[in-house]
Amino acid sequence: MSATTTTPFFEAPGRGATAQALAELFTTTHGGQPAGVWSAPGRVNLIGEHVDYTGGLCLPLALPHRTFVALRPRTDGLVRVRSAQESGSDVEVRLADVGPGEPAGWGAYVAGVPWAMLRQGFTGEVLTGGFDALVDGHVPLGSGLSSSAALECAVAVALAELAGAPLDDAGRAALAAACMAAENVVAGAATGGMDQAASLRCRAGGGILLDTRDDTVRQVALDLAGAGLALLVVDTRAEHSHAGGEYGKRRADVERAARLLGVPTLREVDPAQLETALERVGAQEDGQVLRRRVRHAVTEIDRVRRTAELLQDGRAGEIGPLLDASHESLRHDYEVSSPELDLAVETARAHGALGARMTGGGFGGSAVALLPAGRVQAVADGVAAAFADRRLRAPQFLAALPSEGAARDR
Ligand code: ADP
Ligand code: MG
Repeated sequence: MSATTTTPFFEAPGRGATAQALAELFTTTHGGQPAGVWSAPGRVNLIGEHVDYTGGLCLPLALPHRTFVALRPRTDGLVRVRSAQESGSDVEVRLADVGPGEPAGWGAYVAGVPWAMLRQGFTGEVLTGGFDALVDGHVPLGSGLSSSAALECAVAVALAELAGAPLDDAGRAALAAACMAAENVVAGAATGGMDQAASLRCRAGGGILLDTRDDTVRQVALDLAGAGLALLVVDTRAEHSHAGGEYGKRRADVERAARLLGVPTLREVDPAQLETALERVGAQEDGQVLRRRVRHAVTEIDRVRRTAELLQDGRAGEIGPLLDASHESLRHDYEVSSPELDLAVETARAHGALGARMTGGGFGGSAVALLPAGRVQAVADGVAAAFADRRLRAPQFLAALPSEGAARDR
């Protein structure tokens, strides 16, 4: 690739126009208007990876890329849904039949939501009466940017509003818990809760410092443009076929380490006592592995704390080394990176990123880099060229402007 090539970006379409087009498509598909169109964003986690299932802190922000849902209640208990991203596999399921593993496939992320909302204490006719829905997603699927949570959360705000439930922060926290249950139980995918909290509770212009010990959130302003900075997401589009099994193993590792240390979660390990904790888990048969897992969790939570402090002090330009350290920890201690992610991170740094790391579950998926605003195109071009040189699939680039959480569009 020559130096003059400019790599294209995966842009988010305008919300108003997308919502209008979906409403019109709903009318031609189902006859009659939808009750409304709602959307929820994908997210990128700035820092705090693989710690949301051990009581840790994380700092995600909502992407401008959203999943839209046009929806209209029914009264016969049926959920009928069609997605532009899953053409040819329309879903039709009776709410009474929804449960663990049912429906299989992508419909679980939709029909699982009313199922989980009822169990979370939400009430309303739409939660039992069913609905017709059309979905159009602009969050890349399976790229670690949380298209699954975007879909759940778009459905959740639609149902909450139609059920008359408040959409204040407490209401959104309860919805996030329901969406996580839908994903864990109905879709059967283990997730820790960060994705749903980010998609529902982020506000434009900032990220959230999420404390997964008690689900509290602190809004963190991210005036990157004001500081002359930008966040670039590199979706490596690399397969991550072992992600599910390995994710489960990492969870099992940290849960066992916590038991050995006599604490409910690794959040309870004081960073000042890390060496003592490492010695204790190190005495096990697989002590070397456990040592690395514990070291990642404890140091990562501490890095989130320090990142939040720097951001709070208006020193966003200084968080780069923390992002770099997070990547090295995920790569060597937690062992969830991949050659493509390492290449994206190293190339971004070589082209002027202040810091870069893999983001999301890993084993493929996306990386995030903090850069001087003027370097965005150069870094994207550099990473694209490095992938082309190695004959890897062309990555996709997204600008991570901190965007609004789930909301109604029309
Ligand atoms: P990620 O959340 O990182 O994108 P996941 O594997 O958690 O990856 O979720 C991807 C799955 O979510 C898809 O395989 C599909 O089942 C479902 N999904 C996400 N977005 C959509 C959509 N717009 N339409 C239909 N299904 C979707
Ligand atoms: Mg997901």
